[in-house]
Amino acid sequence: MSEKATAMVLHRFNEPLEQREFPMPELNPGEMLVEILASGVCGSDVHMWLGKDPRLQLPMILGHEGVGRIAKLREERQSIHSAPLHEGDLIVWNRGVTCGRCYFCVVKHTPALCVNRWVYGITTNCIDPPYLRGCYAEYIALTANTDILKIESEINPAILVSAACSGATMAHAFDLCSPDVGDTVVVQGPGPLGIFGVAFAHARGASQIIVIGGTPSRLELCRQFGATQTLNRNETTIEERREIIRDATHGRGADIVIEATGSSKAVTEGVGLVRNGGCYLVTGFGNPEGTVELDCFADISRKNIWLQGVWVSDTKHLLEAVRLVIDNSDTFATLAVDKFSLLQATNALTAMRDRKTLKAIIVPKY
Ligand code: ZN
Ligand code: ZN
Repeated sequence: MSEKATAMVLHRFNEPLEQREFPMPELNPGEMLVEILASGVCGSDVHMWLGKDPRLQLPMILGHEGVGRIAKLREERQSIHSAPLHEGDLIVWNRGVTCGRCYFCVVKHTPALCVNRWVYGITTNCIDPPYLRGCYAEYIALTANTDILKIESEINPAILVSAACSGATMAHAFDLCSPDVGDTVVVQGPGPLGIFGVAFAHARGASQIIVIGGTPSRLELCRQFGATQTLNRNETTIEERREIIRDATHGRGADIVIEATGSSKAVTEGVGLVRNGGCYLVTGFGNPEGTVELDCFADISRKNIWLQGVWVSDTKHLLEAVRLVIDNSDTFATLAVDKFSLLQATNALTAMRDRKTLKAIIVPKY
């Protein structure tokens, strides 16, 4: 192992990331050093890079979707399955670290809402040791209270990265509201998050999975994950889509509608597609995106619907997403085609910003 680790640092918003060398950190008890094998570029990384996320403190190393190999352990550590971890093990980890002591952790058992939650590559900076707290780097230092999943199967790390954020967030959504076998699920937005929505709906036994989006290639991809019908929003009106979904559900509307767009415009349409007593899952908003006007009587009360927000995820959801990806690794490989080296990290962000790729993945040794 060399004495230094290279990382791509966000110094100023909307400017190229800067290549920097950091000393290999001294590990505290329970900490581990992990060699990053693949790091996903999340849509929220682009938001952060452009300066739209109020949580950031610069300079910092972006990257909260990582897969890596344990390079150094300070002392014995166990995976979430209570198995001892060793140097050389392939792992993923929960990007968020929670306290296990606050009201949300111990009373409500909703660690995603922990008041002390912090996130690698989002709420971390590289001002102080150990510096390496984001995945756009050769190495990351993980604290003793980070939940670790050991990956036993032979899977390309680049295929697994999406599980760490969009996959886990969608698993959280399905934990809050899941289809019955035979149900109809509508997904708004065929990006990585929406694709996980399709894949989870398929795995949970939904009979009809209808995706609404504007990019034909992304809609086509959704069919590979189990979508039974796709509706291009540039070729259909809101009324036509509502009609099509009513026709497909005996006039009722969808059992579950999943918002995976991050666009407030989608919400008004989405709520209108839910059947009486059904559920609307709002999963796509990682940043403030404006307000929505709803008819509280006609859209919500009279229909007796669930309006369910979804914020990030916890370790249970990460595990479910990882299992889904491993069980369907050939299909999920289609999300892992656009790879960039570590030094090309800015190009990876640009490709995401310009919608040149569905998912950019940084492979340090690419
Ligand atoms: Zn993310
Ligand atoms: Zn807590």
